[in-house]
Amino acid sequence: MSELRELYQQVILDHNRKPRNFRTLEGANRTAEGFNPLCGDQITLYLTVEDDIVKEAAFQGSGCAISKAAASMMTGSIIGKPTTEVDALFHRVHAMLTTEPNGDAQTRELGKLAVFSGVREFPSRIKCATLAWHTLQAALHGAAAPVSTE
Ligand code: ZN
Repeated sequence: MSELRELYQQVILDHNRKPRNFRTLEGANRTAEGFNPLCGDQITLYLTVEDDIVKEAAFQGSGCAISKAAASMMTGSIIGKPTTEVDALFHRVHAMLTTEPNGDAQTRELGKLAVFSGVREFPSRIKCATLAWHTLQAALHGAAAPVSTE
């Protein structure tokens, strides 16, 4: 188990050093900002969604290694996916981080995202790992809400 944990840690550190999709996105049609005051993590997420498919995803921001790695891997895991699948993935990741583990099936479904399963043991860091995912939900679903009076 400790070898696995070390591997997970290396993946997180690698994504922190070289975050994927770390840029602004010209022509993004969904954006959202997320902030985790507990740790100071900030993220701005950019999505291009066409025909209910996430064509492109990118992010900018600053924060701890976990928040950055989570945003890096989150964007990488949603590009090319239908928004319904993205929602399902959000729920699986959220369940992994906030509930008791339910075995290998859960980990297999999550693929590389399973590296964050160890975060569950550090309750103060869970929000670092979920920030990107909550921001994703805001970007995908917040825009549909009638927020403008214009
Ligand atoms: Zn953090």
